[in-house]
Amino acid sequence: MRKKVIAGNWKMNNDLNGSKDLITKLVNGLKNQKYNCDVIICPPFTSLEQAGSLLKGSSIKLGAQNMHEAENGAYTGEVSASMIKSAGSEYVILGHSERRTIFKEQDELINKKLKAALKSGLKPIFCIGETLEEREKNITNEVLKRQVTKGLEGISEQELKNIIIAYEPVWAIGTGRTATPAQAEDAHNFIRNLIKEKYSNKAADDIIIQYGGSVKPDNSGELLSQPDIDGALVGGACLKADSFIAIIKSA
Ligand code: PEP
Repeated sequence: MRKKVIAGNWKMNNDLNGSKDLITKLVNGLKNQKYNCDVIICPPFTSLEQAGSLLKGSSIKLGAQNMHEAENGAYTGEVSASMIKSAGSEYVILGHSERRTIFKEQDELINKKLKAALKSGLKPIFCIGETLEEREKNITNEVLKRQVTKGLEGISEQELKNIIIAYEPVWAIGTGRTATPAQAEDAHNFIRNLIKEKYSNKAADDIIIQYGGSVKPDNSGELLSQPDIDGALVGGACLKADSFIAIIKSA
C-alpha cells in the first residue's frame, strides 16, 4: 500500500511573518488530528530556515520550489541543492509548469536538476503535465511520455525510490478547473505504466504519483480515492491552514 503524500506549493507567497503565521496554524491545527499521510510544505527560499525551526517536533516535512543544477559558482540569484538542504529542506519541486512556461525550463534541464538534487540527497517532486492545447490535440500521452523519458534519463531504479511524480495538467493549475477523477486516473495509470516499462513492476507499484491542479477540500476526497492517485500537490488551497488541513484529512 502506498502512503499518500500531500504537498503544499506556496509559490511566491508569504514573507517571514506570513510564513510563521501559516506554519504555526498548520502545526497547531494538525496536532490533535488523526491523519494517515505524509505532509510536505514548500515555502519560498527565504522562509526555509525559519520553517525548519518552526517544524521541529512536528511530522510536517519541508521542501523548496526550485534549485539550480550546479553545485555552486557564478550563477547570480540562484540557489543550489546543498544550500536548500542545509536550510532544512528534504524535498524540492522540479519541473513545475510555471518553471517550464515562464522560465522556459526544458526536459533536459529538468533532468540535470533531478540528478543534482538526488546527488545532494534531496528528494525531488518531479512535475509533468500537458497544456490545454496538447490535451485538445489528443497528444496528452505523448507529452507525458516525453517528459517522463527525458526527465528520468540516466536515473536508476534505486534513485527513483526518492522521486515523487506530480501529474499536473497545466490547464488545471490555478484555474479552478480540475481534471475529473476519471481523467486524472487515466493519466496516472498511463504514467505508472511508463514507469513499469522503463523500470519494473515493483518500481511502478512503489512510486508515488500525486495529482495537482485546483485541488480543494471539496474535490480532494474523490480525486484521492482513485487507485493510482497517491496524493496531491496543492497550490492555492495550501495558503489557508483550514483548507490545507481539510485536504490532508480527506487523504
Ligand atoms: C500548483 O501550483 O502546483 C498547483 C497545483 O496550483 P493550484 O492548486 O492553485 O492549481
